[in-house]
Amino acid sequence: MNTLYDALFAPHAGSGATFLETDDGFTLSYGAFVERAAQMAHVLTEAGLQPGDRIVVQAPKMADTIALYAGAVQAGVVYLPLNTAYTPSEVDYFIGDAEPALIVSDPKSADGISGQSGAKVMTLGEGGTISPLADGKPKSFETVKRGKNDLAALLYTSGTTGRSKGAMMSHGNLLSNAIALCSLWRMSNKDRLIHALPIFHTHGLFVALNTSLLAGTRVRLMTNFSLDVLLEELPRSTLLMGVPTFYTRLLGDSRFGRNVTESMRLFISGSAPLLAETHTEFERITGHRILERYGMTETNMITSNPLDGDRIAGTVGHALPGVDVRITDPETGKELRRGEIGMIEVRGENVFQGYWHLPEKTAEELRPDGFFLTGDLATMDDDGRVTIVGRAKDLIISGGFNIYPKEVEDVLNAQPGILESAVYGVPNADFGEAVIAAIVPEPGVEIDIESVRASVEPTLARFKHPKDYRVLTSLPRNTMGKVQKNVLRTQHMS
Ligand code: AMP
Repeated sequence: MNTLYDALFAPHAGSGATFLETDDGFTLSYGAFVERAAQMAHVLTEAGLQPGDRIVVQAPKMADTIALYAGAVQAGVVYLPLNTAYTPSEVDYFIGDAEPALIVSDPKSADGISGQSGAKVMTLGEGGTISPLADGKPKSFETVKRGKNDLAALLYTSGTTGRSKGAMMSHGNLLSNAIALCSLWRMSNKDRLIHALPIFHTHGLFVALNTSLLAGTRVRLMTNFSLDVLLEELPRSTLLMGVPTFYTRLLGDSRFGRNVTESMRLFISGSAPLLAETHTEFERITGHRILERYGMTETNMITSNPLDGDRIAGTVGHALPGVDVRITDPETGKELRRGEIGMIEVRGENVFQGYWHLPEKTAEELRPDGFFLTGDLATMDDDGRVTIVGRAKDLIISGGFNIYPKEVEDVLNAQPGILESAVYGVPNADFGEAVIAAIVPEPGVEIDIESVRASVEPTLARFKHPKDYRVLTSLPRNTMGKVQKNVLRTQHMS
């Protein structure tokens, strides 16, 4: 038995149903995909990979990259996808840390990679070596046995503070989460998912693909996010999983509206906070209420708004089935009363096996009773619904008072003419930290800082007032749409 393979891939053997549709009009059936995965598994074992070995994959988003993931699962190899934007010297760090037996890179960037480690290098993408090699391999492979505690993947955290750490994900971690999401969102073989996320991150790889594989969902694989393609595909689809930026971009396009979303069943958002305003505006324009969920690399998904029942703007919903969530005092670890702000802690089969080669770091982030410290601050209401107020590391302490940036951002965002904002702290001799607000005006709007100040400050306690405002044309974000406050802080200080 192979926990993940048996659930996600094996059941599709021989199926003629469509799995992938790519930008060039190519379609791949589920049955053909399972055969392609077997060919990839042969490539891996013939390259000398043993169960438990790591394979680093920095490759374009294409059907064969997904087949390589499936082939790695089937061969018992640990899959380690990397952000395609990483430079060869950044990739070097991951290679040194994970000690892979094989590195698969885009032919375009392979030169920088080869020769840097003892690992073999192969290429995937236009003109790459793996695909033609796989063509000649048998279409079935004797699946390597793997239990639920065996590693299936090593996913490096985005590392916006400190060095990036490898989160060890077991077969059981990934499968339990796929099962929970799939049933909660009622995914089926009648769905057609628009997949516009990168496949090197938990969102695009596990949340989107593992659930689709489990449900037999048809997947329209978009190589890159493109508003034009998305608008063309929406009328033929039922599901979209996106980061908040997808939704703000759709709302900013005059072609978007009720007429293109009639066949859609569900819009899901995650990986970064969705503004309540985006949620409301989206409903006004389309009649659909975006379903927001929350999770992180180390834990897979933790909470989700309900499919039936209220999807409340600004909240991330309830703990998933089989997942325990509690809110605690970050200092003492004591569970707080409902409504109080504290750290989100999570326990369940979804929670990872620890950080690769970092047992002390792992121990620091796990309570003795198995709860993982997410680093996210939130409240939980009487119903168990969670509302995130920010990252613990983004918490500003000014003059001894705690300031949750989101509270100030919400007030700023509600001002006419302000599109979005980011509030962060910078070192300050008098207060320890000073509150700074970066604001992005709506297109064509000239913002008058003094009138923003005058309208915002009466609603906030004095210690929360931004000491300084910066007007930007956009906020710095990473590929998953997260605002990079570290970048804002550095810019501010220089
Ligand atoms: P990553 O490991 O890259 O998926 O990042 C995980 C972090 O993204 C979480 O710890 C949260 O801070 C943030 N995040 C994910 N989903 C949401 C959400 N729906 N709302 C607010 N923050 C989110």
